[in-house]
Amino acid sequence: MTFNDNVKLDPSQVEDVRGRRVGGRGVAAGSGLGLVVVLVVLLLGGNLGGAGTAGDLGSLLDQTVGLGAGTDVGPESTLLASECQTGADANAREDCRIVGYVNSVQAYWIGEFAAAGERYEPARTRFFSGAMSSGCGSATTEVGPFYCPNDGYVYIDLGFFDELRTRFGAQAGPFAQAYVIAHEYGHHVQDLLGILDAGTSQAGAEGRSVRTELQADCLAGVWAGNAVGTGYLLPLTDAQIADGLDAAAAVGDDRIQQQIQGRVSPESWTHGSSAQRQRWFTTGYETGTSDRCDTFSGGI
Ligand SMILES: [Zn+2]
Repeated sequence: MTFNDNVKLDPSQVEDVRGRRVGGRGVAAGSGLGLVVVLVVLLLGGNLGGAGTAGDLGSLLDQTVGLGAGTDVGPESTLLASECQTGADANAREDCRIVGYVNSVQAYWIGEFAAAGERYEPARTRFFSGAMSSGCGSATTEVGPFYCPNDGYVYIDLGFFDELRTRFGAQAGPFAQAYVIAHEYGHHVQDLLGILDAGTSQAGAEGRSVRTELQADCLAGVWAGNAVGTGYLLPLTDAQIADGLDAAAAVGDDRIQQQIQGRVSPESWTHGSSAQRQRWFTTGYETGTSDRCDTFSGGI
């Protein structure tokens, strides 16, 4: 997915708290904790299960591993503000690219809410490294990206995209990143509409959690179908769409369960199967309207 070189980015929509300088040395915030989490996840192996938190991308990634308070948030970096100014920067740097996706996704929803006579309240994204505390518990690389309705932030460790490649076997190209960002902002839209208030903890293939997640996938597709109209992006290629669908499939419950526990148990699904996630993203993308994202009634 390629940005218009000349479009102006708004880096204020992203807080960069990756690492911070302590005593004159660069220290990655929470890197020690991150290592602990990796070990815990490895040790727990196939025993990961239970209810997930709202807003995570994949069911394995839902698990908030038992950490106490996370690492304190460092001062907001001004690096993004100086480095990520235009679409050309987004084409050149990964972090600026994410800033551009956040800008485009929110530009779309601002317009959609306004057209409906509503006000879209922007949500900021926090880039972190290792681990940090959030209003929804500890954010870690392994938990994966998520939207926290309690504090209204999207949390993402950019290292997650390496996880997508190594642990989930996805290509995780640039459009996969766009899908992830758009999915999390789909949860923010749900939050603004009061959809998250009803709770997402009901697991199972037809449960409320899966329906909520599939709707976020659909809303991500709706944005993708309208991304060019936001002015930030050039038209998508088929290869880019395939990249997004590949990422959606990689975080399907059935794919992850098969990989982790060697069998598929739909009764504990929280996000839907690979096929469902692809289908709902495609529905949003091809129709380009959130009216078609009703995942709460009927079959999914
Ligand atoms: Zn989600």
